[in-house]
Amino acid sequence: MFKRISTGLARVLAIVFALSLFVCLTPGTVKAQDAITFGEPVIINNFPDSLTFQITVESTSGEINKAEFIFNEYGVEYPDSNRLRIIEVEPAQEITLEYTWDTTTGIYPWSSVAYSWQARDSLGNFAQTEIETFIYEDTRFTWQRLEDDRAEVWWHDNDSSFGNQVLAIANTAIEEQGAFFQLELEEPIQAIIYNSYDEYNAWAREDAHRSSGMAYAGHNLIFANTQNTTALEEILSHEIGHIYFHYYLGDKVYDVPVWLNEGIAQYLEPVNHSYVISWTQSQMQDDAWLSLFVLGSNHYFYGEDRQLSYAEAYCAVLYMTETYGEQSILDLLDAYKEGKSTDKAFEAVFGLTLSEFEAEWLVWLQNKQVLEYPSGEYSLPWAKLAVGGALLLSMGCGISIFSFALGLFLIFRQKKLPKNDPAEMN
Ligand SMILES: [Zn+2]
Repeated sequence: MFKRISTGLARVLAIVFALSLFVCLTPGTVKAQDAITFGEPVIINNFPDSLTFQITVESTSGEINKAEFIFNEYGVEYPDSNRLRIIEVEPAQEITLEYTWDTTTGIYPWSSVAYSWQARDSLGNFAQTEIETFIYEDTRFTWQRLEDDRAEVWWHDNDSSFGNQVLAIANTAIEEQGAFFQLELEEPIQAIIYNSYDEYNAWAREDAHRSSGMAYAGHNLIFANTQNTTALEEILSHEIGHIYFHYYLGDKVYDVPVWLNEGIAQYLEPVNHSYVISWTQSQMQDDAWLSLFVLGSNHYFYGEDRQLSYAEAYCAVLYMTETYGEQSILDLLDAYKEGKSTDKAFEAVFGLTLSEFEAEWLVWLQNKQVLEYPSGEYSLPWAKLAVGGALLLSMGCGISIFSFALGLFLIFRQKKLPKNDPAEMN
């Protein structure tokens, strides 16, 4: 009996509490529900330059005199990233609100844009639309799409067997890296395949570097810009590596040195890296040589030292795995996940500070015997220029061994130019 009464009382209290919470969280909305109404939202996707959002709003009793547009490109799960824009309005009972978002500032295609409108009228009523989501697709092409449980592939102007091949490549990489990182991704990986660098760069707008791929790691989204399936094996593998790396570390990904991220992504590429090792060895005495400390930030992975940065990053991770075993990589990442600094993490796993680790690595690298690079094995019709790679927050860009080889060719050729060559002057 007592139990029944107390349960009933608890229910009443719970309802009162819930109602009070509702009123607290939504000031004015109850009052406004009848007073202000919105029409259907309209979105004009002028890819890759802008997105225009429109909606009509009407007040039954007063004039609409204030309006705001709230949006972010990361989706509804990231309200902390919301941006708010005040929309100028000519007060009237019914008006059309419009906001044009300049998307030339680095919004990735297939981003999940979350948005909402809010408006007030002259009587103080307020209303807000539900938060809606819009996928910012690249509308320049007629895309084909193929998916399974683990991956989703988008391509255009190529036959369905190409899509099947790319899906198989993605699946192989997902399987291998799932085993390496000992985890399964919760969401499928979305791979967008452009047919050329120029198609991709129409929105990526890279300057000096030319990436062969990019990972929008926190969002399981990757881009590649070649139809060459041999190259795609390397590129997709590399970019999927960034996704697993990000997924494994969560928020701690930003505490981990960039060279470790790029080194692991290259280590996971299913290609022969002998040439990278021998080239890196040839750079060891050069003034341009970079310490692992400076390669902790993404700065050198962007600029003219990017080729050396990637190469050193690969060799350092290779040293780690050959000397301490592959498990040492996960142990190291686990140490970062526990919140350790780089020195503490390296001490915990290797018994060495980063600089002590580096000293040992350099001795190893100097003496590393490399098998001959399998020349003639690859063709390079798709790689127009030297390597590239950028790593922004939550994204990584790939460099491929194909473009690496071609980049070396260009560098060596350039070094043969006379010093007063005008091409070398600023
Ligand atoms: Zn990368």
